[in-house]
Formats: sequence, C-alpha cells, structure tokens
Amino acid sequence: MTQNSLAGKCALVTGASRGIGAAVYQSLGASGARVCGTATSAEGAETIRAAARGFDGCGEVYDAADADAAKVLLSALAEKGFAPDIVVCNAGVTADGLLVRMKDENWERVLQTNLSGAFRLARASLAGMMKKRWGRLIGISSVVARSGNAGQANYCASKAGMEGLFRAIAREGAPRGITANTVAPGFVGTDMTMQLPEKLREEWVKMIPLGRMGRPEEIAAAVVFLSSAGGDYITGQTLHINGGLAMH
Ligand code: NAP
Repeated sequence: MTQNSLAGKCALVTGASRGIGAAVYQSLGASGARVCGTATSAEGAETIRAAARGFDGCGEVYDAADADAAKVLLSALAEKGFAPDIVVCNAGVTADGLLVRMKDENWERVLQTNLSGAFRLARASLAGMMKKRWGRLIGISSVVARSGNAGQANYCASKAGMEGLFRAIAREGAPRGITANTVAPGFVGTDMTMQLPEKLREEWVKMIPLGRMGRPEEIAAAVVFLSSAGGDYITGQTLHINGGLAMH
C-alpha cells in the first residue's frame, strides 16, 4: 500500500479509543486520509485527537446505542467540513451469558450497539457518498458470526446481522460506486479479549493454527486494503482474519 493511497479521503472510525479501532484510526491516517475517530466519552475523544501521528485526526463523542447519535455525529463533522468517504463501523460490545439465562437488557444492549448502531451510521453516511458516487463502508464483524459461540448468542446474532446488513448495502450502493464489506477478526489481543480468564484465552490460542492471537494492526491492514484502490472490485464480502481458527 502506498503511503498516500488515501490522500484526499475523509475516514470515520467508531470505537477508535482502544484496540482494533485505534489501530484502524492510525493506519488510515498513515495512508493519507483525514480521520475522525469516536469514543463514548469526551476524554476518550481527546485521547483520539492527541494520538494522531503525523496526520489530520480528530475525536468525537458517539454512543452507537443512542438512536440519534449517528445524525448528531455527522452534523458535527459536516460543520468541520468533514464528509466521510470511508466509514468503519467498529464500535462493539459483549455481554456474555448462556441463552437460557440471558437477560433481555443484555440482548438489547449488544444488538443496539453492534447492529442498530451500524445500521444508523451506514444510513446516515450513504447520502453523502451517493452524491460523490464513491464510498467505502466497512463493518467489523467476528469469526463467531459464522461459527457461533456458546455464551454469545447476542453477540453472534449482532455480527451475523451486520454481515447481512452490509451485503444488502453492497447491492444498493454498487450503482453509485459504493462498496460495503465486513472484516471478521478471530481472536485479537485487546481489552475485549483480555477481560476473559487467562485459562480460556490459552484454550482459544491452542485452536489457532498460526499459534497466536491476532494483532489489532493486522485487522487494520485489511481495512486499509478494502478502502484503497486494491479494494475497488470487492463488495458484499466478509474477509476472515483469524490465523486459521476457522476456514470457510
Ligand atoms: P475494545 O478494545 O473493547 O474497544 C471497544 C471500542 O468500542 C472502544 O473504542 C469503545 O469506546 C467503543 N465502544 C464501546 N461501547 C460503545 C458504544 N456504545 N458506542 C460507541 N462506541 C463504543 O474492542 P476491540 O476488541 O478493539 O473490538 C473492536 C471491534 O472488533 C468490535 O466490534 C468487536 O466486536 C470486534 N471484534 C473483536 C475481536 C477481538 O478478539 N478483540 C474479535 C472479533 C471481533 P470507549 O473507549 O469510549 O469505551
């Protein structure tokens, strides 16, 4: 990827304060894009702004579970002359538990944040992309969308829903030069996975043919690829990055 392959593009990354989103924010910026990242708090947004290494970066507050948040976010960005060409729906949460005991609130929170949040942000972003007849929508899904995972019925449903959503967007966006794809990471070292018991993490790593967890930068590289010219003819796909944990 050339260093300036995304020069002139504006990229929006949700959940950029930590983990995969933070790596995506840096990688898109390193590729020449102007990048805005989001966090759920003002402190997080400021951290994102300050973390921009050698590119034009900004941070905004955004709660994906809030029904008005996408519109408010895009209006705030429009005031700064920032109309996203690339939108990465990365913000995500888990609230694990076996289905028989899963509380409605844990189902709702995960679906609202991971799926409805992506739906609303994609919907709000599309008009600007359609006008430009160019756009890249990328959702961060998960290996478990396809494989399933005991204790994550809400999370698996949200990610499988996201993959379906993005395939529909791919069909609707194609005539206007807009691609929509999802990236499905396997087991990546971030706060989300570090909160799991060490023993469980070790069990997971044993199942990965490449013998280690993924790094956030390895997911970010795929996002940059899909956003750049190399991704021009790719739409409606899910790109699996999991060290061989699942082979489809
Ligand atoms: P993480 O380290 O837990 O970071 C989560 C990010 O999402 C943070 O920036 C957080 O912001 C933001 N966020 C949390 N709740 C939000 C909300 N309601 N609205 C908007 N933003 C919110 O997670 P990660 O591991 O980097 O995961 C990033 C994405 O990759 C998620 O969609 C996750 O499902 C997916 N994924 C991760 C793995 C993995 O192994 N780590 C595997 C497959 C898929 P604050 O800092 O403000 O809380």
